[in-house]
Amino acid sequence: MTEDQRLYLDESQVFCPSCGEPQTLVIDSAAAIEESIAEYTEDCSVCCRPMVVTVTYVNDGDYIVQARSENE
Ligand SMILES: [Zn+2]
Repeated sequence: MTEDQRLYLDESQVFCPSCGEPQTLVIDSAAAIEESIAEYTEDCSVCCRPMVVTVTYVNDGDYIVQARSENE
């Protein structure tokens, strides 16, 4: 992996809202625009239930990752 790829593809850990197992997500921080929010649905790799992942970009390269269940 080159220096550039490492800059833009970060791994982040969240806990599945359904089963509580930790999930490693790859966050594309190259898509980050300051104070923007990205939301997408990902299936838990343990229980296969969908969870809604929200990535809030706070400033250059920094972000907060949260996961909630789809029907909340
Ligand atoms: Zn799960």
